[in-house]
Amino acid sequence: MPVQNNLIGGTWLGSSDTLLSINPSDTNDVVGEFAVASATQVRDAIAAARAALPTWAATTTQMRSDLLHNIGSELLARKEELGDLLAREEGKTRAEAMGEVTRAAQIFRFFAGETVRYGGEKLPSVRPGIEVQNTRHPVGVVGIITPWNFPIAIPAWKIAPALAFGNTVVFKPSERTPALGWALADIIARTAAPKGVFNLVMGAGPVGDAILDGVDAVSFTGSVATGRHVARRAVERMIPVQAEMGGKNPLVVLDDADLTTAVNCAVDGAFFQTGQRCTASSRLIVCEGIHDRFVDAVSERIRALVIDHALKAGTQCGPVVDQRQLDQDLRYIDIGKREGATPKVLGELLTRDTPGFYLSPTLFVDTTNDMRINREEIFGPVASVIRVKDYDEALSVANDTEFGLSAGICTTSMKHARHFQTNVQSGLAMINLPTAGLDYHVPFGGTKASSYGPREQGRYAVEFYTISKTSYIEI
Ligand code: NAD
Repeated sequence: MPVQNNLIGGTWLGSSDTLLSINPSDTNDVVGEFAVASATQVRDAIAAARAALPTWAATTTQMRSDLLHNIGSELLARKEELGDLLAREEGKTRAEAMGEVTRAAQIFRFFAGETVRYGGEKLPSVRPGIEVQNTRHPVGVVGIITPWNFPIAIPAWKIAPALAFGNTVVFKPSERTPALGWALADIIARTAAPKGVFNLVMGAGPVGDAILDGVDAVSFTGSVATGRHVARRAVERMIPVQAEMGGKNPLVVLDDADLTTAVNCAVDGAFFQTGQRCTASSRLIVCEGIHDRFVDAVSERIRALVIDHALKAGTQCGPVVDQRQLDQDLRYIDIGKREGATPKVLGELLTRDTPGFYLSPTLFVDTTNDMRINREEIFGPVASVIRVKDYDEALSVANDTEFGLSAGICTTSMKHARHFQTNVQSGLAMINLPTAGLDYHVPFGGTKASSYGPREQGRYAVEFYTISKTSYIEI
């Protein structure tokens, strides 16, 4: 199997160091071998992006729009092949993976439109004989650092606006799932992007750190710990930074909720995609009148979930992404038991036809919000039920967290739904919907430790990927 190389200044370059990507559904299956960029290569990539910047920033919006449109078209045309690759590497089901590739294509198509749509403002001056103009300009060379759990959608929602608004890019996918990042780089390289406009450097933390040394702005998604580090480094250099991080997302279920809706929201939000979503509902905050019925129904549903090879027909949940994440999930299950939570459904390691990281769902009950399982992000198929008296207590527990990404409520009361929408401390509020599952044309991001910097996606992306200039002109 040939090593898949880094893209630097329009040339695919190998290095002395490589990393292997292993299929979590079948650890005998090597998905690929990828070159790890050296510090010099990262510097070269940044230099190439900087050299390409003036020409790229000066291209017509039509040219940039066409490029993004063509990238979206190729992604769509290859969604089955790329979906299979994604499922094979990350472990989400084929349907989930194909949905993610489609989402990436839609994002490129959306920003193809934004490229020609965005503009400035002409404003009256408060002084006579003067015109004021506010215009937007590329921020420069953008460093993009992404996590493993959405290996093509997250790169897409950063790379597409970066290129749309005339920036050049140095992109590092996660070392745990590099295949889709590499495939996207291959598409961009063949879609007539001028040399150096888009650069791919693969590897782990040190490669990310080297990116932070030279770029003009950094867009990061990943854990809070890494996000803090990235933000600190960016602030030291006084460059714009956008960091999207973890969650401990609450789903509130009130006594008047429709039980079927609440159970669907909980099972989807907490366990689909193996619970490996930043927006996963890991805290199910349930009022006492509906508690027992809800717990029984969720338990029944998750016991019946089909957990198997991500590419097998009928699989509802694939494996955990790798041994490191599996160890983390098992450690938290153990912590939960030691903290006194009752495992109503206890996750177990499963044996399937192929060796993989198969873990069945865990549902803890009798938990309190101060337990570590309710305060720290687990990022696996593990959720806790916290029993509360009423709506007021539910809202207060929902907000009692360092995170603030997504929050949901299941209720038939308009009054409570509206109050929750306004008062829950999160960037996303879901009413009778799972905490995960988003549109691509609207802002995305959280509050508190979940997010730092301007929102991503939709029309808001322009805020991060451009610099505003105000001009005063004598008329
Ligand atoms: P991570 O923080 O371990 O890694 C994220 C990226 O940062 C990877 O590419 C990694 O190589 C890189 N990195 C690591 N150390 C670095 C350093 N010192 N300097 C620069 N880059 C460095 O996160 P992960 O395990 O890949 O992803 C899971 C986390 O991502 C979870 O916390 C999840 O909630 C979060 N996430 C958030 C969102 C969101 O939009 N809010 C979306 C998906 C995932």
